[in-house]
Amino acid sequence: MSLYRDEGVVLRTQKLGEADRIVTILAKRTGKIRAVAKGVRRTTSRFGARLEPFTHVDVQLHTGRTLDVVTQAETIRPYGEALAADYPRYTAGSAMLETADRLTHGEKEPALRQFLLLVGGLRTLADRGHEARLVLDAYFLRSLAVAGYAPALDACAKCQAPAVRAFAIVAGGVVCGACRPAGSAVPAGETIGLMTALLRGDWATADASESRHRSECSGLVAAYLQWHLEHGIRSLRHVEREPA
Ligand SMILES: [Zn+2]
Repeated sequence: MSLYRDEGVVLRTQKLGEADRIVTILAKRTGKIRAVAKGVRRTTSRFGARLEPFTHVDVQLHTGRTLDVVTQAETIRPYGEALAADYPRYTAGSAMLETADRLTHGEKEPALRQFLLLVGGLRTLADRGHEARLVLDAYFLRSLAVAGYAPALDACAKCQAPAVRAFAIVAGGVVCGACRPAGSAVPAGETIGLMTALLRGDWATADASESRHRSECSGLVAAYLQWHLEHGIRSLRHVEREPA
């Protein structure tokens, strides 16, 4: 029996048989792991709530023939508790978990930067220093960038001309008047500025942005993400903006 240890965030769980669950964990060194947690649905389970979605856990597993088996789990930080009481933050967090799952394809393919972005995003969300939707949009933009889909925001995505007029999802970001496809959105300059600030982690600029630019930014980022994932992130439909 081969044992290994890692830390990771529980992305989702599925019932297995009477008392077990399959847990999907994005782990720091290993990448995405699907493993069996035996007896986890019994009230007497030694794992308690440690293998619930959102929990940052330290886990020990043994390698199985098909699925690995969780043998120990210790909570590092239970983000689910911090988010459960706040619907906008909870739905934003759910969209992060689902996106992390979708942007990490293979099992046990190391995805350290995606792991670090997810933990950073959940921590920022739980610490309540910034609006939930801004935190989520920053997470979407950065996780897309790590996956190789960073939108062009400084110059035309097609010809690199510095003067840009529109945002075209299919072209990969902002485009100039000559390259602009029919039907592309023409966002405010401040909205592109907000996207740039979120991608760079410039919170001073992002927090000072106006509500209408945040709404426009969220719409563009959601459309851009969905285009790259080919079909929609289900939990995004439930994300609501916090009251101003
Ligand atoms: Zn152009």
